[in-house]
Amino acid sequence: MEHLSFFKLQAKNLLKDFKSLHCDEGDRHSEYTPKYFDVDGILLYFNYRFDEDNFTFTLMNAQHIIAKMVGYEKWENLIRASESAQELAELLLRRFKTAEDIQNWEDTVSFASKDVVQKYGQEVLSAETMLDYARQYYELGDRQEIVHLPTERISVLTGKLRTNALAQFDDEHNPAGSLRLDSVVFCRHCKKPFDFKRSKVIKDNESNLTMVVCKNYPNCKGTYLDYKVLTPTVLYGEARTAELEKGTRIFSNIKMDSKVHCIHCGQQYSYNEANAVIDAEDGQVYVHCKNYPKCDGTLIDMMPVTEQNDNNYND
Ligand SMILES: [Zn+2]
Ligand SMILES: [Zn+2]
Repeated sequence: MEHLSFFKLQAKNLLKDFKSLHCDEGDRHSEYTPKYFDVDGILLYFNYRFDEDNFTFTLMNAQHIIAKMVGYEKWENLIRASESAQELAELLLRRFKTAEDIQNWEDTVSFASKDVVQKYGQEVLSAETMLDYARQYYELGDRQEIVHLPTERISVLTGKLRTNALAQFDDEHNPAGSLRLDSVVFCRHCKKPFDFKRSKVIKDNESNLTMVVCKNYPNCKGTYLDYKVLTPTVLYGEARTAELEKGTRIFSNIKMDSKVHCIHCGQQYSYNEANAVIDAEDGQVYVHCKNYPKCDGTLIDMMPVTEQNDNNYND
């Protein structure tokens, strides 16, 4: 019953917006901003036609549209749906303001359900599953937002709180299921690789939602959703040093502390900042540019910088 009165109210709101847009004299049309719904866009989305001459759009029509917005053919189907299904419809209606919102949800569902159906079969797409999914989906949306909030509203978690939040990372949150606590990640936002463990965990002081974000927050607004997982392709620590040393034996004009110029990306850096990367195809380790994976340069692209040509590069 609770849901039903919510749906009825939404239909009334939709009707109100429709009337404000269409019943007044032409010139008010452009000034009015829809209060609840972007009616025109939504009607167009459902290919809804009404009589151009007298703009008949009744409460019944509005109810029909409300039902369509949450995936039902008819209002009757919506009001007879199960508790979970109505709960889902209410959650969605609270989010849907424009046709774009509806489209985003429909796209996400059809994309996600293809995957799920393939794994578990059609029957798993119950109202309960969809409701869970919607809760996660929109909660994730809210979490994503907090990275853009003013920093005064944000606490950066430290100590145990931070460690626990990072340790909670499991399959559910994982981009492509590959992110682990010991992963090395590449933030697509600031184009920097780092150990996942160095990520920051931020909390919105008002909503209490937390989010794992780039280690370079607040300068970088990337979140873990922007991470590309590099591990174990990029070597770190001693393994990396050992591979770089091998490189100096191949090219005797390069020493560990040599300044090198990557002809691929044009940047200059100390050779010991270069990366050692396991090649996905042959399993061999190659020395790559400091700016890997942004730059494709390898050892042969690194030119030692002598005092003389140093000046040229700095020009
Ligand atoms: Zn970043
Ligand atoms: Zn480079």
